[in-house]
Order: sequence, then structure tokens, then C-alpha cells
Amino acid sequence: MGFLDGKRALIAGLASKRSIAWGIAKAMQREGAELAFTYQNEKLQERVEKLGGELGSTIALPCDVASDDEVENAFNGLREHWDGLDILVHSVAYANREELQGDYLDKVTRQGFQIAHEISSYSFAALAKGARPMMQGRNGAMLTMTYLGAVRAIPNYNIMGLAKASLEANVRYMARCLGKENIRVNGISAGPIRTLAAAGIGDFRKLLERVADNAPLGRTVTIEEVGNVAAFICSDLASGMTGEISYVDAGFSFSYGDTKTD
Ligand code: NAD
Repeated sequence: MGFLDGKRALIAGLASKRSIAWGIAKAMQREGAELAFTYQNEKLQERVEKLGGELGSTIALPCDVASDDEVENAFNGLREHWDGLDILVHSVAYANREELQGDYLDKVTRQGFQIAHEISSYSFAALAKGARPMMQGRNGAMLTMTYLGAVRAIPNYNIMGLAKASLEANVRYMARCLGKENIRVNGISAGPIRTLAAAGIGDFRKLLERVADNAPLGRTVTIEEVGNVAAFICSDLASGMTGEISYVDAGFSFSYGDTKTD
């Protein structure tokens, strides 16, 4: 018996076994959920199908979140397999790589701002619009992934910090909008983890070191630790919780100073 027995979850953002979405998928499958995935483009199709297959999933649908048509088609495709949906996981972000390093004002551009906000924040609402009709009459849960750069100015994170601030506001507005339909909306603010997306952030290694040196737990976190919290938040065990950003970051966000030298 798992605490997600009988639940159906759609996960967007799987790219590799390093993806946070993979940690989430593993935890949800372990707790009994049935899984479906979307993939960004043809390049990722085979890999996502294979990874999904490892977790017993036979549903992988194309969905570049920059396209309204692809989002619509993905949910039409999902409806051919499932008559309802309990969980939506949004683990998607993108910003131009050159804007994720160096002096924020030197690097930020109008177009880069638009891209980062569209792919990393608006897309959560876009997927939610598709999921909403399929979540009626159930205990729906939507979850997105954010980072401390939403609330603190962090070197090199730059435009992505603004997009994450927008995403966190999106969590609250969506939670308010969907609460009466018994659909909960939450975010997890994960500590830095080495993934494909993280590789695009300048000096990412320094961020990892800083967390390991300063976090109360004295280390960084894993995709499995994030996945476990994600599974809980999307389960009925968290039925009273919506509009929240939960930190899974070894305590880094609230702690001051170097814990090794205290
Ligand atoms: P990842 O590279 O494994 O995942 C990013 C995903 O976004 C990929 O699957 C990619 O295909 C998808 N994506 C990008 N543009 C897309 C588009 N146009 N359409 C559809 N999908 C698109 O990296 P990750 O670190 O697992 O990132 C997942 C989420 O976690 C992101 O929102 C990221 O900002 C967030 N996050 C990551 C960290 C970290 O340190 N890795 C920390 C906190 C939050």
C-alpha cells in the first residue's frame, strides 16, 4: 500500500536520470501512482519513453510548453488513455544561457526576459488550464519547482530569479483560483542539484559548495529527497496545504553563516 495508490500523475520536465522530475517520478511510482510523461521535443522522446517504461508507464506525449497547440494536443492525447487526472507536476524551466552568468543588467534583454518568464512561469498556468477539466471531482494537486533565487539575489541566477518570483506568485494565484474545485497548487524550492538545466548557470559548482558549507545539514540535497516531499505534497496526506512554497534545501535558506566554523 502506498499513499498515492489509485492516483494518476502527469509529469512534465523529465530529461535524464539526473532530472528532479526523475526523483519525483520514482517516489510517486513507489507510492502507488500511475504515471504519464510529456517530453519537450523529438530529441528527448526515446529517452523519456524508456525512462517512463522503467517505472511502468506507457504514456509519453510531446509537449513543448512554448506552443499552445502542443499543450492542447498533449491533454487531448492524455484523455485517450485516462478519463481523469489527480496530479500535475511542472518541472520545467528555461532561460538563454548567456543571461545566466555575469552582471545582471549587462546581460538581461527584453527578449530573454520574455523567454524565461514564458517557459519557466507562464507554462505552469498553461499546463494547469489543460489539466483543470480532467481534475474535476477529484482531490487534484499541482506542483512546480522553484529556487531561492526567487526571493534572494543570487550571483549568475539573474533573469531566472525573476521568472521564479513570477512562478511563485503563479502558485498563489492558481491556488486561490482552483481551491473551490478542490485542486491544490504548491511549489517546492529545492536546493541546488547538478542537472542539465543547472549546468547552464554560471559558477554552479560554487553554489553547491556554498550550500554544503552553510546549510544546517552540512550538505546539498538529492533528487530523491525532493521527490519524496513532492509525493507527499501531491498526496491526500497534504490535503490542507495549498499556495505554499516548501523548502527542500538542507536548511540553507533560513540559516546565517558558515556552519562548519560556528
Ligand atoms: P532538467 O534539465 O533535468 O529539467 C528541465 C526540464 O525542462 C527538461 O526536461 C526540459 O526538457 C524542460 N524544458 C525546457 N524548456 C521546455 C519547453 N519549452 N517545453 C517543455 N519542456 C521544456 O533540470 P532540473 O534541474 O531537473 O529542472 C527542473 C526544475 O527544477 C526547473 O524548474 C528548475 O528551475 C528547478 N530547480 C532546479 C534546481 C537545481 O539546482 N537543479 C533547483 C531548484 C529548482
